[in-house]
Amino acid sequence: MDHFPGPRHELPRRYCPVCGHWTDRRFRNGPGARPDARCPSCKSLERQRFLAVLTSCLGPLVDVGTLLDIAPAPCTTTVLAELEPVRHVRMDIGYDERGVDLLGSVTAIPLRDGSVDVLVCYHVLEHVPDDAAAMREMARVLAPGGVGLVQVPIRFGRPTDEDLGAGEAERVRRFGQHDHVRYYGDDFEQRLADNGLVFTRTSPRSLVGERVCHVLGLIPDEWVWVVRSAAHDTGEVHPVVVPPPTGLTRALDAVVEAWFDDLVALSHARRRVRRLRSELDVRSRSLGARVRAHWHRSA
Ligand SMILES: [Zn+2]
Repeated sequence: MDHFPGPRHELPRRYCPVCGHWTDRRFRNGPGARPDARCPSCKSLERQRFLAVLTSCLGPLVDVGTLLDIAPAPCTTTVLAELEPVRHVRMDIGYDERGVDLLGSVTAIPLRDGSVDVLVCYHVLEHVPDDAAAMREMARVLAPGGVGLVQVPIRFGRPTDEDLGAGEAERVRRFGQHDHVRYYGDDFEQRLADNGLVFTRTSPRSLVGERVCHVLGLIPDEWVWVVRSAAHDTGEVHPVVVPPPTGLTRALDAVVEAWFDDLVALSHARRRVRRLRSELDVRSRSLGARVRAHWHRSA
């Protein structure tokens, strides 16, 4: 059960929806010294905490027979298990200390057509030279009604920067990591549509509002694409816009704002208590000194 901190952790400021950890500090630095990124308890990053939020929304809506997690991370395994899939398949091209159930490439997924109810593909496509093949494979294995959650590093307002022949140093400079082959831009969604996927997109800001993003340590505009197999449908591409607040995000904002007001009032009250305590100490010391002086004089 989640445990709200007692007197030892006086001012809770961050909550991790992956492991239920409250902390009175910001989260730890993440990759590239990104501040406020990593949960000190379960090591989750912003995107994994948002995945926990997404799966908690998705859970009651879907019956998951087969869940395919492509390139799994340890804490996402825990998060996705909450969907209670009948078959939880973690696939990667290699095996290491992470749990992997299936060895396979995203460009040739060793599963039957239409056999996957939920698919997760986070921060994978930017590593894959033939990302079109990977997208077509996702479209192929998704069951009718199945959904995929896809995330890639992306910069809007410019086209994808891609160079399959770039050396490691240049990849780091242009794509942010030695094993990335591109940095996605505005045409990412066209690539999804061209390769058999229809999609809608969501972001932490649009789902839980700005203030809750702060508490859960989420990047407000870190988009997730919710994809489905286009089958006979055709993907329609809409420009990315930051959605207006909804009733839910306004309500959550109001709750968190009231909470923060209480935190500020509590912190002021504490300062006042400390001040009064030290004033009391000073007065009692001076009273003690006067009593002793009086005692000596009368002795
Ligand atoms: Zn955590």
